Amino acid sequence: MFVADVEKLLNDQVIAEIYSANLYLSMSAWLRAKNLDGYAHWYYVQYKEEMDHALIIFNYILNAGGQVKLGAVEAPPSDFESLEAILKQTLEHEQSVTALIYAIVEAAQQARDFKTVQFLDWFVKEQVEEEDNASANLGRWQTFGSDNRGLHTLDQEMSARLYTQTAQLALYETGA
Ligand code: MG
Repeated sequence: MFVADVEKLLNDQVIAEIYSANLYLSMSAWLRAKNLDGYAHWYYVQYKEEMDHALIIFNYILNAGGQVKLGAVEAPPSDFESLEAILKQTLEHEQSVTALIYAIVEAAQQARDFKTVQFLDWFVKEQVEEEDNASANLGRWQTFGSDNRGLHTLDQEMSARLYTQTAQLALYETGA
């Protein structure tokens, strides 16, 4: 069972993670249209990871006796200024997601909802990684991406990213 505001914040976070997924899928489409197939692939994998985040929280709400109430997901932008703009926007977006996660942790602590505090521990760690990845991608572009050959090498490196479903998802799925 949940205190109402914690349950509401968790439901909002399901939608926020789906929005993140859609944002990165939209970026992937834009990048592919610009022939940046490696970057497009990286963002396509990122889309899948964000959907996993949404499902982890969805399953946790149900598992802990809460009610899932899905709201509307805002449409992501479909036009972007440049690859650099996408990389900057990604970092800013992840920083905003971190703030959302911290706000739920704070609400859960105040409500003495320690199961949710513990559940969100993984997300706190995940956000450190997300911000680090976004920051590294931006930094590498700023250092190496300014000429076509450097950009080509970076694009090839981005294509190597593999999708692996996080073990965290299975923890809360039905029957697990
Ligand atoms: Mg996420």
